[in-house]
Amino acid sequence: MPAEGGAQNEAWIARGTKALLGNYKPLPVVLVGGEGARVKDADGNSYIDFVGGIAVSALGHNHPALVRAIMEQAGKILHTANVVWNEPAIALAEKLVARSFGDRVFFCNSGAEAVEAMIKLARKVFHDRGEGRFEIISFEKSFHGRTLGALTCTGQEKYRVGFEPLLPGVRNVPYGDIGALEQAMTERTAAVLLEPILGEGGVVVPPSGFLKAVRDITQKHGCLMLLDEVQSGVGRTGTLWGYEHEGVAPDAMSLAKGLGGGLPIGAMVTTEALGQHLGFGTHGSTFGGNPVACAAGGVVIDVVSDPTFLARVRQLSEHLMTRLAQLAKQHRKVVVDVRGRGLWAGIELNVDCSPLPRRALQSGLLLNAIGGRVLRVAPPLVIDKGTLDAGIAVIDQLLSELVSEPTRA
Ligand SMILES: *Cc1c(COP(=O)(O)O)cnc(C)c1O
Repeated sequence: MPAEGGAQNEAWIARGTKALLGNYKPLPVVLVGGEGARVKDADGNSYIDFVGGIAVSALGHNHPALVRAIMEQAGKILHTANVVWNEPAIALAEKLVARSFGDRVFFCNSGAEAVEAMIKLARKVFHDRGEGRFEIISFEKSFHGRTLGALTCTGQEKYRVGFEPLLPGVRNVPYGDIGALEQAMTERTAAVLLEPILGEGGVVVPPSGFLKAVRDITQKHGCLMLLDEVQSGVGRTGTLWGYEHEGVAPDAMSLAKGLGGGLPIGAMVTTEALGQHLGFGTHGSTFGGNPVACAAGGVVIDVVSDPTFLARVRQLSEHLMTRLAQLAKQHRKVVVDVRGRGLWAGIELNVDCSPLPRRALQSGLLLNAIGGRVLRVAPPLVIDKGTLDAGIAVIDQLLSELVSEPTRA
């Protein structure tokens, strides 16, 4: 029975609170192990994992093939740098090319870095063409990362405040609003940057046809469509890439989170023609294409791109969405909306939900809240139906407690 405040958890947290920068506010639990869609803390308590390391642990914890590939590669060579070639990076790039719209891959280490690569690609393309285009249009409530370029494109004031001046020439328009996008386009627009579904913005699915309309507008204006698939990619939505649901292909996409199955890796995928603009010496990353991270990525892509694996994710998704719709009905006093795609859902409340993850922990569920109003469900894609149901049952219980509180007060 999970109980907060075991001796080991507390001891480590006391140390961490002193030594680490206070830029996070972790739940009071130190994770030391995991198996599939369950994790274990330093005091031996077990939790169902509905966070998945923020949509990272696609294959869950301690996945045998993933662990084996990492161990094997670690025993061969850990790092090479890009002054030489390495096998896992080449093999992973081939897989990404074979299974996406793209022809060329740039590897880096995080989502923000992958977004930066897209921003630099857009600038370089129009620099090379001699057109003075450099402006980027991105969307309100979007999230693209914390480095200054990616941060500038992030359409949420709370992340940007205190870090100005930011990149010039970036404008945000309301997500899903094609008219606003059309109005914001100028002859200086180099690219439109967007997530296929807002992740940190609250798992917001745009109106159907939105991606297609963005594709059409960018084509009409001769600028790039940059798709940030850092959270939506690698099977999260029930297809390998989020854009597949909309029948469009971007000019470049950023990947990270799920790609390494838990190891840090990022990637930018683009076309042959555009990739030529980032030629020798124009961009780079010391750790980019790290052989261990790429070996992990190779296993993740092999497992996740299997049609039976993806079909299972879509089946579980149907079940999840049905159950969440029932919860929304049952708890309609507090639940404003439930939405999502694949094994990725948001439960929006009309009350502050930031205390709920801590209560969930006491009931054996690892859960996170985004923006104070939305609970995000993003379990490992390998979760089984029973575990999924058990986690949903905890959320059900938490929502019941929420309703009863104001009436008692
Ligand atoms: C998480 C996220 C990022 C940033 O990734 P980091 O690895 O934290 O730099 C960028 N874009 C989207 C859509 C994300 O969800």
